[in-house]
Amino acid sequence: MPRFSVRWMVALVLILLVGGAFFYCEYLIYFPTILKCAWPKINHARGGEGIDGRPMDSAVRAMVLSDTHLLGAVGGHWFDKLRREWQMERAFQTALWLLRPEIVFILGDIFDEGKWSSPKHWEDDVRRFHRMFRHSTDTELVVLVGNHDIGFHYEMDWFKLQRFEKVFNASSTRIVTKKGVNFLLVNSVALHGDGCPICQSVEKELIKLSRDLNCSLQSSQSVSGVTDSCEGAQLYPPTPPIMLQHYPLFRVSDAGCRGLDAAPPQERHLLFREKYDVLSKEASQRLLQWFKPRLILSGHTHSGCEVLHDNKYPEISVPSFSWRNRNNPSFIMASVSPGSFALSKCFLPEESTVIGVYCSAGACMLLLFLAHCLWMKGLLQCLSLCLLGKHKYL
Ligand SMILES: [Zn+2]
Ligand SMILES: [Zn+2]
Repeated sequence: MPRFSVRWMVALVLILLVGGAFFYCEYLIYFPTILKCAWPKINHARGGEGIDGRPMDSAVRAMVLSDTHLLGAVGGHWFDKLRREWQMERAFQTALWLLRPEIVFILGDIFDEGKWSSPKHWEDDVRRFHRMFRHSTDTELVVLVGNHDIGFHYEMDWFKLQRFEKVFNASSTRIVTKKGVNFLLVNSVALHGDGCPICQSVEKELIKLSRDLNCSLQSSQSVSGVTDSCEGAQLYPPTPPIMLQHYPLFRVSDAGCRGLDAAPPQERHLLFREKYDVLSKEASQRLLQWFKPRLILSGHTHSGCEVLHDNKYPEISVPSFSWRNRNNPSFIMASVSPGSFALSKCFLPEESTVIGVYCSAGACMLLLFLAHCLWMKGLLQCLSLCLLGKHKYL
C-alpha cells in the first residue's frame, strides 16, 4: 500500500477516535443514561386518585434538582466554569427533551457567588443561567433561594434578596399550585428566628400561607363553606402541601443515610450545625406544625438522604446537580397528584465514566501511533526518531 494512503488512513482513524470520544462524552452520553429514567407511577392503594377524585393521569410531572452552583467571577476558574456549565446544560436540556416535565424546581444555591457578586457579575451569572436552563412554555421553571444566592443569614440583606426575587419574578416564599397540588416554597435562609426584618417578613408570610391552607382544608370539609375565622383567607386546593426549601429540616447528621449518593462514610457521622447545615429544631418544628406537609424536598447538603420526621413527615435531601460537587449527580422525578405522590431518582452520567472514555481514546491513539511507527519504520528506528523528535511522518 502506498505510504501516503496509510498515513491518511491513520489520520482518519485518529480523527474518528478523537471526534467519536468527544461527541460521545459531550453530547451523546446523556441520552442513554437519561433514557433509563421513567416517571414513577402513583400507587392506587396510597390514594392515587386524589382527594378530589382526579384520575391518576392528572398527576403533575415534577423534576426537582438542587445546588447548581454556577461559578462566579471571583472563585471560578474559566475551564471549571465552562466544563460544569456545559455538563449541566446538556443534562438539563436532554432531560427536558426526553422526559417532558411539566414543572421544574431548583432548590437553591443556583449561583455560587450571588452572596457577594457585583451587579455586572450578577448580570453575567443570570444570563448564563437563563441560557443553560432555557425551556419551552410547556414547562414551568420555579427557583428557590439558597444561602449562596443571597448569603447566609448574617450576610443576607434586602438588596440581595430583592435582586434574586426580581430575576425570577416572584417572592421567595409562596405557594405554586399545579393540577390541584400545592407546592409550598420556603425561604429557609430567613428562618433564624432572631427577629431580623427579613426573618419577620418571611415568618409573617408563612403564617398567612399556613392559615390559607388550613382554611382551604376546613372549607372543603365543612358543609357551610368558609368559617368566620377564615374570612378573607385565600383558598387553595384542599390538600396538604409538598414543601420545598433549601436547608433540610433539623437532623443530627447523615449517619442514617443510605444509597449511591449518600454522603461519603467518613462524613456521615459529622454532626450538623443548626442554622448552618440544617434548620434549627424550633424552625423545623414550627414548619411541620404550621403546614403538616406530606413531603419535604430540600437541598444544601449536596448528598442524598431520606429522613422521616416525627414518624410521619418524609423528607428527601436532593443531591447537587453539578459534577463539581459529586461524581454522580442526579435529580428527582416526582409524580404528584392531590392525594398522593411517587418518587424516583434519575442519575446522570458519572464523571469517572467520561474521564475513562477519554483515557481509553487516548490510549488507543497512542497504540495506533506506535503500531503505525512499527509498521513503517521498525521499532528501533521509530524509537530513535521519536526520541530525537525527527519523526517526519507525523
Ligand atoms: Zn450548595
Ligand atoms: Zn446551600
